[in-house]
Amino acid sequence: MRISHLLERMGTNGYLSPTQLNTFLQCGHKWRYRYIQKLRLPASDRVVFGRIYDAALQRFYASMIAGEPDTERSADVMFEMARLSLEQMENTEGIRWEETNKDEMLREVMDAIMLWREQIGQTIKPLEAAKEIEWLLPVKNPIVKIHGVIDLITQDNVIVDDKAASRKASPESSLQMAAYTDWFLQHTGRLPEAVVFHTLVRRKSGPTIEITSYKPDETYCSRFRERALQVCKMLEAQIYILPELSSWVCSEKYCDYYNICEHSKGGQHAEI
Ligand code: SF4
Repeated sequence: MRISHLLERMGTNGYLSPTQLNTFLQCGHKWRYRYIQKLRLPASDRVVFGRIYDAALQRFYASMIAGEPDTERSADVMFEMARLSLEQMENTEGIRWEETNKDEMLREVMDAIMLWREQIGQTIKPLEAAKEIEWLLPVKNPIVKIHGVIDLITQDNVIVDDKAASRKASPESSLQMAAYTDWFLQHTGRLPEAVVFHTLVRRKSGPTIEITSYKPDETYCSRFRERALQVCKMLEAQIYILPELSSWVCSEKYCDYYNICEHSKGGQHAEI
């Protein structure tokens, strides 16, 4: 099947995104449920926490870029954005409450905002936030476009991604960060100073913020392009990766489709 036909079926206006590439490399079934069948199930509370935390930080970046002063009230404004995002997700997509409940989540996100402001917010210098980017993969026929959203580009040309996770993230091995670096290189003619993850590590004993940084070179970008082209070839040849059933990828906690997935129940690999 031609990649252009698949992209048409996906209804993405001919785009692939770093998230789609990652999902495809993780599990063909997951990719099919999400992008071909477009099955949207209520997100787990773990995912929702990450999204509302992100919404709070984006509110802060937007104020800074608009030249608004950072005051004592900033944390309240960020919290209000997180609360509104939570309400909106509850009313539209639904939330699978597994590890926490609404009140606990709101308390936790407030603690996370306070910690972030103390450790990051005081010194960060946002230039562009929630930056939508698109660029072409170096293939002539068909043209494959990549689309993504960068959390933050700072005034000193650092690409930042904010995450909430159970352990710190590694920018060196991140396909998403390599993709953003490739875009940066193609659009500015130079490499970013660094790619940085600010990971809010959620632990029972309380959250910490782990900062991991990597100074990319051009091979970092070519690794992304090779990986993306490899995915395009696999899509055309209809070769799909399936994870080990015993791996963390294939678990109720990390896969939203676990309860409906035929593969996880020992069924046959359905046609994609
Ligand atoms: S349960 Fe496993 S095989 Fe099924 S979609 Fe999720 S990750 Fe893929």
